[in-house]
Formats: sequence, C-alpha cells, structure tokens
Amino acid sequence: MSSSNSKFEPFNRGLPRTVGACMAAMLMLVMSSSCVTTEAATGGWVYICTGPKAKVYHSTPNCRGLKKCSGSIKKLPASSVNRRPCKVCH
Ligand SMILES: [Zn+2]
Repeated sequence: MSSSNSKFEPFNRGLPRTVGACMAAMLMLVMSSSCVTTEAATGGWVYICTGPKAKVYHSTPNCRGLKKCSGSIKKLPASSVNRRPCKVCH
C-alpha cells in the first residue's frame, strides 16, 4: 500500500485537484453561457407550469393560463420544452 501510494504522489502533485475542478467549472461556464447566448439570440424562452395538469408552454409569465398553475412557474429555453403552445398567449 505504501509503495503504490508514493508512486502516485508525484502525479497528484503535478495535477492538483483544483486544476481539474477549475477546468470543469470553466467548461460548464462556457457551455452554459454559449447555450444561453444561443437561446437569447433566438428569443426562445418560454414559461411552463410544473403542475400535473399543465400541458402547454407560455410566452409570458403573466399569462392567464399560468394564474391557475398548481405548481411553480419555470422559465426554460423553448427548444427544451416538449409542449404545445398556450392558446391564450400565442
Ligand atoms: Zn399562456
């Protein structure tokens, strides 16, 4: 156990954990920011109700259809929402 431990130590020192975490965070940041930019550029944000009866998406959080939402209202990119558009606000 001690011999294999000392074997891996130089490797651990050369690649500190912080670098890996930082790179992962940067990757996520780049991915999410590029994703947001794309969606914002296309204006593809929609609002959905998370309630069990909600089957549509809305173009505005102030829609009449969302007033009776039994869950909470979520803002999502239109491309990720697999619902029909709301008849009230579309
Ligand atoms: Zn609506």
